[in-house]
Amino acid sequence: MSTWLDLPADHPFGVHNLPYGVFSLDTGRRRVGVRIGDLVLDAGPVAAGDGDRGAGGVSHLATAWQTPSLNAFLSLGRPAWTAARAWLTELLTDERHRATVEPHLHPLGDVTLHLPLAVADYVDFYASEDHASNVGQIFRPDNAALPPNWKHLPIGYHGRSGTVVVSGTDVVRPSGQRKAPTDPTPSFGPSIRLDIEAELGYVVGGATELGSRVPLDEAEDHLFGVVLLNDWSARDIQAWEYVPLGPFLGKSFATSISAWVTPLEALREARVPLPGQSDPPVLPYLAGDAAGFDIHLEVALNGTVVSRPEYAGMYWAPAQMLAHLTVNGASLRDGDLFGSGTISGPAKDSRGSLLELTWNGTEPLTLEDGSTRGFLEDGDSVTMTAWAPGPEGCRIALGEVTGTIRPAR
Ligand code: CA
Repeated sequence: MSTWLDLPADHPFGVHNLPYGVFSLDTGRRRVGVRIGDLVLDAGPVAAGDGDRGAGGVSHLATAWQTPSLNAFLSLGRPAWTAARAWLTELLTDERHRATVEPHLHPLGDVTLHLPLAVADYVDFYASEDHASNVGQIFRPDNAALPPNWKHLPIGYHGRSGTVVVSGTDVVRPSGQRKAPTDPTPSFGPSIRLDIEAELGYVVGGATELGSRVPLDEAEDHLFGVVLLNDWSARDIQAWEYVPLGPFLGKSFATSISAWVTPLEALREARVPLPGQSDPPVLPYLAGDAAGFDIHLEVALNGTVVSRPEYAGMYWAPAQMLAHLTVNGASLRDGDLFGSGTISGPAKDSRGSLLELTWNGTEPLTLEDGSTRGFLEDGDSVTMTAWAPGPEGCRIALGEVTGTIRPAR
């Protein structure tokens, strides 16, 4: 499949990708855009001008896309998402649409990208066995590395949706309480163990009714797409506060996501079986056809690549996480977001946090400028990128997520 745009066939944001975001031009009005190559298609006006076309037309898409977030589009559900993608693909591959579409293409350099969705509820899971095992060894050295429930249910906690920020947003170093086991009393101040967590975030649409559940085999009808997610974490605050109710202020100060949401349909070629859940077997509501994704991440700290996590090694599938999230009757809202949990593999250079990469600061990393890091310093920038295999041998890039640490206030 080729496009009439002047775009190399191997461009990672080619016609097989087509992620959605929210952008504005100088005039300031935010609306939904679709990335093709290094351009952004202002899809709403094109859909508005094409309203009578085909079965049902696309006027409902025009309405949804001319709003300042993806939420209205998310509310339309899987059939509309599929129809929209087919329509966009035709626009960008059939030369007949060129004259209509071209005036609505804007260079990326001319637009401002915004948070792509109004995040409804935010949940973060803990789906990498290597990450959970490493954290267990570091935080609870006297206990078994994995908690007893870990292979029976995808562990998660509710995070703070209001502090999810778009890629490029600065992160102010959080302050809080900390108390090392050897300290006689807690102290207060800027975090001295500020960290990252490389994750995928799943964007949810198709709201459900309170009291209902989403079965595993319908979960993907509610999984619109993925973002790259950095779950900034203050390890000193976290270690002192997290027993017994889990993470709180150590993680709620900021969570960064990519500006681009990659539709799940763009990852069809990247679907892979899970590494295996036969021992112990999972309960029936978590059992069935649930795939993982072959997504390759790269984490750079001030330009030095410090890790290459592999998403394919994750123990729990996103469909299982969503089925678990709703099994008690909790409803879904358009714009819900859940994180996969830190993506860490067995190799040291595939760990998705500094906590693991430096083993709680005891084995510092050396960056290309010769400096060393246990945890993040003020001024440090962290950038995560990722790609997945696409059709016809192409690569599907995910949008990058980047952020820079600013001093505590
Ligand atoms: Ca996390």
